[in-house]
Order: sequence, then C-alpha cells, then structure tokens
Amino acid sequence: MSRSNPFAALPSVDRLSAHPALAPLHSEFGSQSVNEAIRTALSAARDALRQGAPLAEDALQPEALALQLAQLLTARRQVTMRPVFNLTGTVLHTNLGRAVQAEVAVEAVSAAMRSAVTLEYDLDGAGRGHRDHAISSLLCTLTGAEAACVVNNNAAAVLIMLSTVAAGREVVVSRGELVEIGGAFRMPDVMRQAGCRLHEVGATNRTHLSDYRTAIGPDTALLMKVHTSNYAIQGFTASVGEADLVGLAREHGLPVATDLGSGALVDLSRYGLPAEPMPQAMIAAGVDLVSFSGDKLLGGPQAGLIIGRKAWIDRIQKHPLKRALRCDKLTLAALEATLRLYLEPDRLAETLPTLRLLTRSPAAMQPLADALRPQLASVLGPCFAVAVEPCLSQIGSGSLPVDSLPSLALTVAPVSGRGGALTALADALRALPRPVLGRLAEGRLWLDLRCLEDAEAFSANLRHLSAC
Ligand SMILES: *Cc1c(COP(=O)(O)O)cnc(C)c1O
Repeated sequence: MSRSNPFAALPSVDRLSAHPALAPLHSEFGSQSVNEAIRTALSAARDALRQGAPLAEDALQPEALALQLAQLLTARRQVTMRPVFNLTGTVLHTNLGRAVQAEVAVEAVSAAMRSAVTLEYDLDGAGRGHRDHAISSLLCTLTGAEAACVVNNNAAAVLIMLSTVAAGREVVVSRGELVEIGGAFRMPDVMRQAGCRLHEVGATNRTHLSDYRTAIGPDTALLMKVHTSNYAIQGFTASVGEADLVGLAREHGLPVATDLGSGALVDLSRYGLPAEPMPQAMIAAGVDLVSFSGDKLLGGPQAGLIIGRKAWIDRIQKHPLKRALRCDKLTLAALEATLRLYLEPDRLAETLPTLRLLTRSPAAMQPLADALRPQLASVLGPCFAVAVEPCLSQIGSGSLPVDSLPSLALTVAPVSGRGGALTALADALRALPRPVLGRLAEGRLWLDLRCLEDAEAFSANLRHLSAC
C-alpha cells in the first residue's frame, strides 16, 4: 500500500468487479447492483481515509469484499413489508394489516394477478359488466339490501355517501356519535370534505328522537347514525335506534344513513362473542344506506362496503368520486372469495381466519402452549423464566372496545431482574427472520398465542435466536 497517498491504493470498480471472487454475486444479483454496491464500499473506504482512519489490511480484498457485498445485497433485496408473527393479542391489528385473509381469498388474488380477468367484462351478455357486480349481488343475498357497491375503505364509503346524499346541505348527527376513528378521520372533518354542514344534536351522553325532530329544517338532507365502534358511553345514556330514526325520517321524506364501522355479517353471539350490529338488521330497520369495512370483523381485504336503496346506490355509482375510490381487481377478487364463505355460515368459524382466531378458546391453545414453552425456555437459556399464563386478547380495529377475549400466553420474565433484559429480548424477537411481536406488561413479555396457527414455522424461526 502506498504510504504517501493511501487513496491511490484503492482498487478500481472495474478491477474489483472483474475479480473471480465476485463472479457468483454477478450471477445472483446482476452486474449493475454489484457494481453499485462496490462503488458504495469504495466511497465508504474513501470517507474513512479522509477522516484519518487507517484502511484495514483486508478491507478491500476481493474475498472479504465479496462477503460484505453479499450481505449488503441480500439486505437490500429484502422487501420492507414483511410477514410477522402477531402475538400482540390484538386480532385485527391496524398496524399489522388487520384481517388475515382466507385461503380461498389468497388463491383468488393470485389467480387475478397472474391473468386477465372478467373485471368489467360481461361473458354472457346478461348485463354484468360492472366491476362491483359480483360483490353487489353477494351483499344483496347476504343482507337483503336492494343494491350495494364497493370503495377502497369505509372512510371512503362515508365520504362518498355524504357527498352523494347531502353535498351543500345539512346532516343531523348526535353529539354522542361524532367519532374520531384514528388518523385524520373525524366525523366533523369528513362532513366538511364531503361539502356537508354538520348539525349536531343532543348531548354527549344522551340524545332523544325529539332532538332530531327539532333539528330538521328545509336544508336537512340526511339523518345519520355513526356506530361508536372504538369507545363506549356508559352510565346515564340514551340514544335513538335506527328504526325510530327511520320512522321520523319518513315523516319528512328524508333518508337515513348508518356508518357501522366494523359490521358483522353473522351474529357473533352465536359463537359466544359479544354481539356487534349487523348490516342486515339495519336494512331490515329501513335504513337507506349502510356502510362498513371489509377488513374488520368481516375478515376480508381493505374495502368499504355500502348497501341500501337502489336509487341511492345508483347515484353513488355515478358520482365522480366513485372513479377515484373504486377498488382494483385484487381487492375485488379477495372480497368476492371472502363473501362466498358467508354463503356457508356453518363452516365459517373454520374457513374464515378472523372468526377462527376470535373463537379460539384457551383450552384449544393449551397443547400449543405446552409444546412451545420448553422450546422457548431452551432457546432463551437460564436468564429468562418462561411460563404459560392466562391473558386477555383484543378484537382490535375499534371493534367491540370494551370486550376482551380470554386467551393464553407464553410469558417471559428475566430471572435476575436485570434492567433492559426484556426490551433487549423484545428487540431480538423483532430481529428474527420472521419478526415476533409481543406485548410488554407487568415486567414480562407476553406472547399471546391466539393468532399463532403455524407452530412449526414459529419453532423453526426461534432457532435463529441465541441464548443469553
Ligand atoms: C373503522 C371505522 C371507519 C373507517 O373504516 P376504514 O375501513 O378503516 O376506512 C369509519 N367509521 C367507523 C365507525 C369505524 O369504526
């Protein structure tokens, strides 16, 4: 190495690139990426030299460099959105993509990705050329609605409903239902975006039919209910049910809309779960438009479903916003496959992952817990105590905020009470090839087993963890 000018000792990109030690990289990653990675390594070496750091003897030896580049290129190849083990105890976790899709939905999506499809193509000339047709007819069958349509998510559904029915006019909503869903989705803001004027009635805890009655004027376009999905008002409360509101609306020739948020297409109490309002009950009560999410309790892909009167749905379909908010073929494929599962409700607790996970009992998780506890204990070594403990899972996504489900967790506690050991463990679990996400509480790391179905993959993944 030249002592006078260390920069001159750096090899050229071309020379390194042509070295036989790098040949396997060229065939695996392509020459353009390899050369770019070499440039990055050389520029890092130059920076180090400039700062007066001595160049390590073998830093740019082709063999050592090949290893370093292989790591860099492999890391770069990894996609950012990766599968994880959701052991947080929240089944519909918004940050983790909400509902895990049914196998039939996964297959339908891959088929739709691989091939041209009849998205807006009528094979038999029977007038089925609209992209929402399949979903719409399934939703009508399942809910008894006259018509239905689909947009990108429920926030979009609310926006387009309001904009279609009440732009430039007033919408009457109870003060107890001015929901913030999270992010920037607040009912008053959405009203403004849709060009409507919000007319609040009642008090936070109590709203009566007479409040709506007094509010109705020449500018009123819509009476609206919003399901308070992510909070509960308890104690001295009163609210007006959909059927009563519909009665009042009819007297004045006004429509009623309900944003149900989650909306369950099956009666969850049949499965021992807390009951959640059902879209079909809203239709039966005479509500004109009902919106709900595709990826909450319904267990499908992200989507916003609107069901109700044909005259209103037809107007929504013609609204310019519909073109901006429409779903692509992948969403529609997953949604159709998911909704078809509801045609066989007796098998739903098996075929629909969301319902399967929500209905899993602690007793059913016990064998899994017993099998995994010793495995985890042996991987973690003597610094941690691993136990099986009862816990409570959450449904998530704002569904049923007060209710939680009895579940079973593996808990990990540091033996020595060393500070930071638990967070270091949580970090190590997140750094696994398939990151494991748990919950830190009460001095322990809780790994709720409710959403763990692939025990084999979990065990294989654990082997990459090192003991203390
Ligand atoms: C979740 C929710 C929304 C938003 O639904 P997305 O599908 O997440 O857009 C709107 N309203 C209510 C009441 C909700 O619970």
